[in-house]
Amino acid sequence: MSDCIFCKIINGEIPSKKVYETEKVYAFHDISPEAPVHVLIVPKEHIASHNELTAGNVGIMMDIHLAANEIARLMGIADSGYRLINNCGTDVGQTVFHLHYHLVGGKSMGSKIL
Ligand code: C5P
Repeated sequence: MSDCIFCKIINGEIPSKKVYETEKVYAFHDISPEAPVHVLIVPKEHIASHNELTAGNVGIMMDIHLAANEIARLMGIADSGYRLINNCGTDVGQTVFHLHYHLVGGKSMGSKIL
């Protein structure tokens, strides 16, 4: 999508610090990290949010989750632990309407969700 900031990151129009890439998924360091490790995992296909997942495109979730495993290993936090977060909609703070998962870790965060 032409005015989507993550589409521009994926196609190189906006620079990013790439962590991992496959044919279907792109991952990069969040520009404003909230943990020692804070990586965004995004599908190359423009999907606005979790609400737009359908039977036709949900296969991308397999790629996202396998990418998360690989990135956790690459970042050295697979064993210590990490959280995968998706914000869907404005009430929970989604600011970029291109589906993405925050992979955060590298410090002890406890077990509380909120
Ligand atoms: O889940 P949410 O939509 O709030 O997350 C968007 C994330 O995208 C933010 O953590 C923000 O720091 C990140 N971002 C980025 N690079 C940009 C624009 C936003 O890493 N150029």
